[in-house]
Amino acid sequence: MTDLLKQAYDAELFRNNGHKLVDALADHLKEVENKKVLPWQSPEEEIEFWENYLHKNEHRDFSEFYRTVMDRSISLHHPKYMGHQVAAPAPVAALSGLLSSLLNNGMAVYEMGAAATAIEKVIANLLARAIGYENNSDGFLTSGGTLATLTALLAARQSKANMDAWKEGNKANLAIMVSAEAHYCISRAVKIMGLGEQGIIEVPVNKKLQLDSQALEHKYHQALRDGKQVIAVVGCACATSTGAYDDLEAIGDFCHKYNLWLHVDGAHGAAVVFSNKYKHLVRGIQRADSVVLDFHKLLMTPALATALVFREGQNSFKTFAQRAQYLWEEDLEEKASYNLGKQTFECTKNMMSVKIFSILQAYGTTLFADNIDTLYDLAAHFSAIIKDKKSFELAYQPEANIVCFRYVPETLDPETLNKLTAKIRKTIIEEGEFYIVQTTIKGNSYFRTALMNPFTTVNDLKQLLIKIADVYQKIQGKDHLNFY
Ligand SMILES: *Cc1c(COP(=O)(O)O)cnc(C)c1O
Repeated sequence: MTDLLKQAYDAELFRNNGHKLVDALADHLKEVENKKVLPWQSPEEEIEFWENYLHKNEHRDFSEFYRTVMDRSISLHHPKYMGHQVAAPAPVAALSGLLSSLLNNGMAVYEMGAAATAIEKVIANLLARAIGYENNSDGFLTSGGTLATLTALLAARQSKANMDAWKEGNKANLAIMVSAEAHYCISRAVKIMGLGEQGIIEVPVNKKLQLDSQALEHKYHQALRDGKQVIAVVGCACATSTGAYDDLEAIGDFCHKYNLWLHVDGAHGAAVVFSNKYKHLVRGIQRADSVVLDFHKLLMTPALATALVFREGQNSFKTFAQRAQYLWEEDLEEKASYNLGKQTFECTKNMMSVKIFSILQAYGTTLFADNIDTLYDLAAHFSAIIKDKKSFELAYQPEANIVCFRYVPETLDPETLNKLTAKIRKTIIEEGEFYIVQTTIKGNSYFRTALMNPFTTVNDLKQLLIKIADVYQKIQGKDHLNFY
């Protein structure tokens, strides 16, 4: 070993740096409120900063590096972080991330991750039970909802297309039906599967922004007339931009009637299976052939940690199966289902299960329920406040923790209003006091807040509305009027 290699693996140096890192992170948790949520810099400035940093700092004390990264990053634990749907991780789960990083078990075969594989099975079973699946279900963890969706839809194709598309390619005009509000990962998966633009059948949404189950029949028969073979319907639980939950009972009935695969994209909102108060939103989910759930969104786990569970466990082997039946039998013999690489896209995979398990072990699923109830209740409260304000307009009545609204203090034509909304948001995030995002619903731009951490209070949300009104007045040069 060279001296440099010895130094790189030095246990005492690691202990020392590790303590410093934990101290820095604990300080960050305590003080985050006093910092900007987002210390905005342009990408060019940021790259220049790090180029210089690399060349100027050759020391081996990383604590300054840790603090510098923290100071220059968006803070998801900040009460005024109300942006994209990424969890503010529970510290216990972040510590497990360190565990995973150092042990670095590869996970593709059982031997390369015995504990983490077994833990993964325990978590998949726990989720399956919460969904309401029977004992023959099976599941695993994978790197993100996007990848999990593709994995599920490949299994759907192998199950329902009446051909071996894995081996022979697509021999028919296969298609998948989904709400027009679905996450883009669905159409991406369909296109990766080679089904093309015509392989995705968008079903319009109703007033509640749910997939319009009345329109399903019509769209389905239209597709048949166009010579397509529909294999699956994707239900959103919930839709990313609006938080609207599709009616899974109605979609389940439809899939049953035509023998279609029901996939539930619950990346964000299937988490409610752990909440007594909100699980009614996914009524019927136990009928889904497959369900995706991101633990790194509402369930306080560091990214990435996604579960994909199948009602019929054997279907999970169809994804990458040239000869599904043969593989499955082999699996029964060899218990190869413990070699997770057969079911997952990844060959080498992060030990993501330990992150989730540490939360469950320390707090149980009650913590998940507490988080969901806190955030969903807060969103309901926030929307009531918005409704009360004349100058603010709520886009829809939220079912989840995602609230979309806009500021309309005076009569403005739609285009001007859209531009103004974008300009207000840009100003707010560059100032760094709040982090919010935006979305387009039926051609109109809205501010979009996903209430992702339990530190956000009603008062923070009231301050956001005041901030929006202030920025508007500054932009319009109308400081003298009170628009709030
Ligand atoms: C976030 C999200 C996805 C994508 O999941 P990733 O983990 O970001 O890949 C898919 N669908 C919905 C509804 C989501 O909210």
